[in-house]
Amino acid sequence: MAIRKIRIIGDEILEHKSKPVKEMTPRIKTLIEDMLDTMYEAQGVGLAAPQVGILKQVVVIDVSPEGDSPVVLINPEILELKGEQTGQEGCLSVPGKAGIVTRANYAKVKALNEDMEEIIVEGEELFARALQHEIDHLSGILYVSKVEGELEDMSMEEE
Ligand code: ZN
Repeated sequence: MAIRKIRIIGDEILEHKSKPVKEMTPRIKTLIEDMLDTMYEAQGVGLAAPQVGILKQVVVIDVSPEGDSPVVLINPEILELKGEQTGQEGCLSVPGKAGIVTRANYAKVKALNEDMEEIIVEGEELFARALQHEIDHLSGILYVSKVEGELEDMSMEEE
């Protein structure tokens, strides 16, 4: 267990494409554990490996209120997007800011789990938004490029 340093916007690693994971190794296992620790510590609902400086296609998400339902996605690939939602979005790599982003309301994703078995995950609303946001990170895309209007300052009103 270890907390890793979260890379902040302006760090060019966030704009690079991540490489697929070919096999599960102790290094990748540790990366996943550290990413979960780092996400929970920062009170985020998702984290992608490039955000901790590793250009591998690994994403962790937990949108549950209790923070006890982690989803680990390796080499995720969007299979289907449906509908539309417009709402506020933030990112651990863009601290203190939020902006309005329109995303699909439903997303279906194929990925590998920690045992390198194929899984399909799907969901709506916040989970669908998190899937799209985190998978964008693997392509070097930050949500700020999709914000409608201005980025807002959140420093005074975080929950
Ligand atoms: Zn993000």
